[in-house]
Amino acid sequence: MNYIDFTIPQTLTEARDALKALGPEGMPVAGSTLHVFLRDEAPKVAVDLRQLGLNRIDAEADGFVVGATATVTDMDEYAAPGWVLDRVACEFVTQPIRNMATIGGSIVRVFPWSDWPVPLLALDAQLVITGDDERTMGSSEFFAVQPFHHLHPGDLLTAVQVPALRTGEGFGYFKERRTSTDFSRCTVAVWLQLAQHKIAAVRVAIGAATPMPRRMPAIESALTGARPGPDAFTQAVQAGLDEARWKGLHGISDDYARHLASVRIVDALTAAWTEAKGNTE
Ligand SMILES: Cc1cc2nc3c(=O)[nH]c(=O)nc-3n(C[C@H](O)[C@H](O)[C@H](O)COP(=O)(O)OP(=O)(O)OC[C@H]3O[C@@H](n4cnc5c(N)ncnc54)[C@H](O)[C@@H]3O)c2cc1C
Repeated sequence: MNYIDFTIPQTLTEARDALKALGPEGMPVAGSTLHVFLRDEAPKVAVDLRQLGLNRIDAEADGFVVGATATVTDMDEYAAPGWVLDRVACEFVTQPIRNMATIGGSIVRVFPWSDWPVPLLALDAQLVITGDDERTMGSSEFFAVQPFHHLHPGDLLTAVQVPALRTGEGFGYFKERRTSTDFSRCTVAVWLQLAQHKIAAVRVAIGAATPMPRRMPAIESALTGARPGPDAFTQAVQAGLDEARWKGLHGISDDYARHLASVRIVDALTAAWTEAKGNTE
């Protein structure tokens, strides 16, 4: 990146006004950790979002509202009944990067290996975008394209609404990598709800082994209403694998990415089922 200046607005309105005035030359900046990966050499003015008071995590009736500039460390350290994102945060790269990287910066510009889209898809999180009006978008729609395409000049992602895990629900998360600081080769997240010993609802999301993070609707449909268990999981996963295009990252073949996914989706289903069984009144 080629920054030629910066500004540190103190309110959301100031930040949006600055971005609108700067046009293509303005660039919102939160933790700034992405910029080593960007090849854009056009001169930019950084508009720092970290003084806008968007770094809170608040518990509300239906779940949690995570401000866009909450860092990965904030999410790791936050604790409340039904909060599961600490399980994702503690697997995120290294502590110095966890201290800087924010949830907003981690999901506005997404790579195949990006960690955060996967659990947010499985949890069906809602993304709050503040422009001239405030609008809320479901995670499936948000991640269906490269998310910054949803933002008009001056728009900012301001919050992520994350449902809490309730009675009868479980969450499973796996990130497959060679070393703890490595990029993921396969990230899987599952949210599952049990009712009367059957799967009432399930969401399966995958990243790193596919070109972009995505849900696996065929696996979800096959399991909805089924009795959970190793055979049901394996059958549904094997039957549903063809709905995705598999793409191996960092030296692994496409076939191996597919195989890794088949194993890790079953693992995440099993973890979510186990938690849901134990998560009773
Ligand atoms: C060495 C290294 C390894 C990494 N490994 C991984 C990894 O394995 N998995 C992983 O998921 N991440 C990894 N990351 C982090 C990831 O690449 C991003 O750098 C990080 O998540 C971005 O967060 P940030 O707050 O620093 O965003 P920034 O770098 O500040 O911004 C990122 C982008 O989002 C935009 N933006 C930021 N906030 C907003 C907002 N609120 N509204 C609108 N636009 C906004 C910016 O304009 C920019 O385009 C790694 C980073 C480094 C440096």
